[in-house]
Amino acid sequence: MFDKVLIANRGEIALRIHRACKEMGIQTVAVHSTADADAMHVRLADEAVCIGPPPPKDSYLNMAAILSAANVTGADAVHPGVGFLAENADFAEMVEEHGHVFIGPTPDHIRVMGDKIAAKEKAIEIGIPVVPGSDGGIETDAEAIAVGRDIGFPLIIKAAAGGGGRGMKVANSLEELPEALALCRAEAKAAFGDDAVYMERYLGHPRHIEVQVLADGMGGCIHLGERDCSLQRRHQKVVEEAPSPALNDIERDRIGSVVTSALSKMKYRSAGTIEFLYEDGEFFFIEMNTRLQVEHPISEMICGIDLVREQIRVATGMPVRIQQEDIVFSGHSIECRVTAEDPETFAPSPGRITDYHAPGGLGVRVDSHLYSGYSIPPFYDSLVSKLVVHGANRNECLMRLRRALEEYVIGGIKTTIPLHEQIISEQAFINGDYDIHWLEKWMGLK
Ligand code: ADP
Repeated sequence: MFDKVLIANRGEIALRIHRACKEMGIQTVAVHSTADADAMHVRLADEAVCIGPPPPKDSYLNMAAILSAANVTGADAVHPGVGFLAENADFAEMVEEHGHVFIGPTPDHIRVMGDKIAAKEKAIEIGIPVVPGSDGGIETDAEAIAVGRDIGFPLIIKAAAGGGGRGMKVANSLEELPEALALCRAEAKAAFGDDAVYMERYLGHPRHIEVQVLADGMGGCIHLGERDCSLQRRHQKVVEEAPSPALNDIERDRIGSVVTSALSKMKYRSAGTIEFLYEDGEFFFIEMNTRLQVEHPISEMICGIDLVREQIRVATGMPVRIQQEDIVFSGHSIECRVTAEDPETFAPSPGRITDYHAPGGLGVRVDSHLYSGYSIPPFYDSLVSKLVVHGANRNECLMRLRRALEEYVIGGIKTTIPLHEQIISEQAFINGDYDIHWLEKWMGLK
């Protein structure tokens, strides 16, 4: 087992990883920007190294500074967390070249899944169902028109290098296609430095359902069930739940075994997630995330498995120690992503936390780096807390979530807690009757 792990991230996820390490008897090294000197993960870590000024490109994305922190502190391994360098194949490669273990997949797997065109080809090769669309990238308008005629309208144009919900354009008709294509290319070039795009059928009312896996790189692979992340605003997840209210046990087992046999074939290593759109009983692959995900706790809650702990174990070269048939899916879990934003306008609301009281009690988990007196810096992601609850069934879970939201006090800044209270009181949400467009439509109606 590792003696010391460097956590190349910040915020709640750095704290989450720190906690798993401490429970495994592993020393932790925090790296931080000058803006995060007072952050909770920095305070709790065994060692801390300042790696640069506030802008992410000078600190949390500064590979040389992070690697030298790993060298100086003698860390055995580097955990990249979520975001920043978590899906950067070059970083994973450099970590290994410098003699540390990268707690994640191989650089090759990160690379292949990071390019959406290559990922879709890989998915087809290993037997995962995909959205019907172009065979690889689209080069010219003429090609786009031919593919458009073939797959029909509406269709969606997506950037090969896209991520975070950016670099996507819908075309409703053949007439709209050339302009949508040009816009998507320009946006892709500006945001990702790569204007390669592809096209696929636009699904009208899908749910976003993703399967969590854990694999050991030697063919061992298990799944921890699915998460329903259909409640999105601007393609960003807002509330997630596990299991999905839309699936029955047969569908659940079927998609779980499709995914595990595919990833075992690929000899995938580490935690990973295969994301699907689900419509009328069919699953369509959209992408694979080769890292831990923000919403991983809801899977942990229904399986009773510490995913980060298992991820660290397989990174040492050990096989997955849990058999699929030993996983007991129990009850229901929901996560609310609490962000430091105005719940009406979504304007960022960084600042000093004047009062802080987190909810507690049976089945309530708060993954947050906040504390009273902490100042949220304005430079980073607005996620400040994940309120995760578990109940014996969905109804118990909802009742618990309602009272936990009521108890939660974050003073001094605006947060999205009031928005979550409203969402979970809506009849459609209570009935589990929503698709990926529901939240935005509901917000427009309010
Ligand atoms: P990103 O990497 O930017 O998150 P994804 O490919 O995962 O991009 O897609 C993000 C979201 O965009 C999906 O959750 C869904 O809401 C929407 N989306 C993507 N592909 C399609 C499609 N073919 N039809 C309808 N909606 C889509």
